[in-house]
Amino acid sequence: MSDTQLTRRNILRGRLGPQAPCVCPPGVSLDGLAACTSCGACVTACPTGIITFAGGKPSIDFSRGECTLCGKCGDVCPEPVFDRSAPPAFDHVIRIADSCLALHRTDCQSCRDHCPVDAIRFEPQLGGPFRPLLDPEICNGCGACLSVCPIGAIGVAPLARKDMAKGNIAGGSTGGGQMHG
Ligand code: SF4
Ligand code: SF4
Ligand code: SF4
Repeated sequence: MSDTQLTRRNILRGRLGPQAPCVCPPGVSLDGLAACTSCGACVTACPTGIITFAGGKPSIDFSRGECTLCGKCGDVCPEPVFDRSAPPAFDHVIRIADSCLALHRTDCQSCRDHCPVDAIRFEPQLGGPFRPLLDPEICNGCGACLSVCPIGAIGVAPLARKDMAKGNIAGGSTGGGQMHG
């Protein structure tokens, strides 16, 4: 791992902090999480290694990588933790903080370049570089954009998909998540 990657991870971890809320695996609600026995099967099964334990419950750490929504965590779970009535999905979308470099006259489009579903586009702003515009209707919460942000400006917005008006852009809180633990 390069120093740069370490720095990004440290930034992310520093931003989230040890008391930060946790992010449920896809298809897991807070009610479902109560049935978790902390067996660790989902942790072992995750091909991108992003499931960790927080407070004895599985939690997604997007500083490690992205969720491909493969569903393997739910497939191996022996308990009624995951909603298997629908394909795996997150309830959250992401939110871009005011610290975004593009909002401070520094050209950066890393998040857009790494988004697999083109949920982030950039629009011109007067007298500065292009600025990010997130479409919460498209964002699936996969987290691929989090670890590539050089300053850790992207966080998780809990249960925000239905609440966020289409076109809501940078600004607001970061680092939130689906609370548990
Ligand atoms: S859906 Fe796949 S990639 Fe995402 S957390 Fe579960 S096992 Fe990991
Ligand atoms: S596999 Fe299921 S019961 Fe086991 S730790 Fe993961 S969520 Fe909990
Ligand atoms: S979390 Fe949303 S915006 Fe970020 S890469 Fe995934 S789909 Fe794209």
